[in-house]
Amino acid sequence: MSASVTMVGIFSHLDVASVGGRRVRIEARHCVLAASGIENPRLLLASRDIHPNGIGNHHDRVGRYLMDHAAARVGRIPTEQMEVLARLFGFFGVRHKGRAHMFMHGLALTPEVQERERLLNAAVYFSTERAPDDPWDALKRLLLRRSGTVRRDLLSVAAGSGLLVKGVGMKMLADGRMPRALKDLVINTAIRLSPNMVANEFQDRGLPRKLAGLRIEAICEQAPNPDSRVTLGLRRDRFGVPIARIDWRIEVAERRTLLRLAEISRDALAGAGLPVPVLEDWAAQRRPEDIVIIDMAHTLGTTRMSSDARKGVVNADCRVHGLPNLHVSGGSVFPTSGHANPTLMILAVATRLADHLNRTLD
Ligand SMILES: Cc1cc2nc3c(=O)[nH]c(=O)nc-3n(C[C@H](O)[C@H](O)[C@H](O)COP(=O)(O)OP(=O)(O)OC[C@H]3O[C@@H](n4cnc5c(N)ncnc54)[C@H](O)[C@@H]3O)c2cc1C
Repeated sequence: MSASVTMVGIFSHLDVASVGGRRVRIEARHCVLAASGIENPRLLLASRDIHPNGIGNHHDRVGRYLMDHAAARVGRIPTEQMEVLARLFGFFGVRHKGRAHMFMHGLALTPEVQERERLLNAAVYFSTERAPDDPWDALKRLLLRRSGTVRRDLLSVAAGSGLLVKGVGMKMLADGRMPRALKDLVINTAIRLSPNMVANEFQDRGLPRKLAGLRIEAICEQAPNPDSRVTLGLRRDRFGVPIARIDWRIEVAERRTLLRLAEISRDALAGAGLPVPVLEDWAAQRRPEDIVIIDMAHTLGTTRMSSDARKGVVNADCRVHGLPNLHVSGGSVFPTSGHANPTLMILAVATRLADHLNRTLD
């Protein structure tokens, strides 16, 4: 898909192409671009009817400030000590409008600590670690003939037969023949009574697993960085539109925050008389440059919101600066990323945009 605007600076139409080869032009009085944190800047950059640098890109801001959440494993709680923490920091169920929803506890840096130590926003949460002799994994290896240690895998399957039988029960719950209302009742009750169990089943696709410990995972905000960005590459897709090129940067601030978060979490647990985690080597040896950081598929910031057109792409109404009838929706409008999963905030801002359009469009 590509979008173009007329020379007077008003969005006029979309040129749409399908994979089946159909091409149509959609003319509209208004457009909301909602194609994701990578595609939103890509489509704006590739639409060059009005400005050689792309729509909304007079100040070279489109695609810049690419953020995700920097995630890393910071430590683990050994098996023999995990129960108390699994109960305290596991999932919990909340009932709302007849349905139960699952939430997870975690530990976040306080604003005071962030300010004092000049840290980014960040939090840790706890996730379960599967044992190497988990019977389902052993069974899978045996069935797929990928077992390097057949005798050990057979022993694991035999020793874990209780878990395997329980797994069959879980599979029955997933059976399409069980009435939906009955399934909802069972699942909602289970969420309320034992959210941790439900969360584990959910994470492991309905199979009860043998656990080895609790992992401590961290999620960290990224400082907005103009050099972290989406640009257009040289290759083109089947419609002739250049493919996005991603240059995602992780800076010292993120690494420093993750290190201090690991240390502060360890000290907080110890101070509360709870099991003390074994930190990853990089944290124990204070080597933030060695942290293995992964993204969370939370692509944010690439058409960021700012009241100043020189600092952002859209204004507070999510409208592209300089164009009266083109808006952007999605994580790309975030000016900063915080540490929390973004979807609820994306929906809140999208709902606010919908209300605004309802009020202003005749
Ligand atoms: C595996 C996974 C797990 C996740 N888990 C969580 C979670 O637990 N909590 C959370 O908050 N977030 C989670 N996220 C992140 C969350 O999905 C995204 O942050 C959110 O969906 C982004 O919303 P968006 O509107 O910006 O883009 P999207 O939701 O990606 O919507 C963009 C839409 O535009 C369409 N599109 C793209 N390009 C074009 C084009 N050229 N033409 C036409 N249509 C196009 C896409 O098909 C898509 O439907 C997860 C992401 C992944 C991948």
